[in-house]
Amino acid sequence: MTATVPILMYHAVAEHPSAASKRLSVSPDSFEEQVAFLVEHGFTGMTFSDLADAFETSKALPKRPVVITFDDGYADFANAALPVLQRYDCPATVFVTSGWIADAGPYAGGTPLDKMMTWAQVRDVAQAGIEIGAHSHSHPELDQLADAALWEELRVSRVLLEDCIGTPVRALAYPFGYTTPRVRLAARAARYRCAAAVRNVRASAFDDIFMLPRLTIRRSTNAVAFASAMIGGDDRVFRRDRLLTAGWASVRSARRVRKRVLGNA
Ligand SMILES: [Zn+2]
Repeated sequence: MTATVPILMYHAVAEHPSAASKRLSVSPDSFEEQVAFLVEHGFTGMTFSDLADAFETSKALPKRPVVITFDDGYADFANAALPVLQRYDCPATVFVTSGWIADAGPYAGGTPLDKMMTWAQVRDVAQAGIEIGAHSHSHPELDQLADAALWEELRVSRVLLEDCIGTPVRALAYPFGYTTPRVRLAARAARYRCAAAVRNVRASAFDDIFMLPRLTIRRSTNAVAFASAMIGGDDRVFRRDRLLTAGWASVRSARRVRKRVLGNA
């Protein structure tokens, strides 16, 4: 049997998140409980890229592998999540939207949903051993962009983040998890090595490493649901999210085709 690996997707970790980031946020206490649960139950944290590498090269996985990821680059990652990860010695990957950085200045792009990390915080986080991945530059729906804009989003975010941390950025997370074969081809061309989608199922070595699925952890994911999903392999807790993402994928591909037919893509 091929091992399946839970890749958890977090967003803000905050007591009082903004209205826009609240639904997908968790409280710092819940986050700590969840990390403690994983450590106490013998899970081994890996970064997203290390898991993708292991899948690609058929390398043996550690005992009970788990990958903890964070999207967008909220300031509370540095203030609330990082200290917990350090306390439990747990690796993680943060996918940063480069145009949302708090002091992005002339490079600002898109509309951040909450208080974001500064360049200095991103650098500190990287130096603390957390993997920095990209999450596009301005957080658009990548599948809806024309080729030139898609390429810019992928390239600019990688270059800005690499300038900041001084090491290669290998991983990408598609904003909203939206991806198509064209988006994945562009991600490869933009020199990413692997990428994260959503899909709300566990990942396995059979998955495309440019579309590794993640599980959505939200404020409503209580301790019992979290435990049964991690230990019992009970993915029912993600069923609603799974149906939502599958439904959206078909709506969105129809929309993109319609745009192409109308000639305004
Ligand atoms: Zn995002």
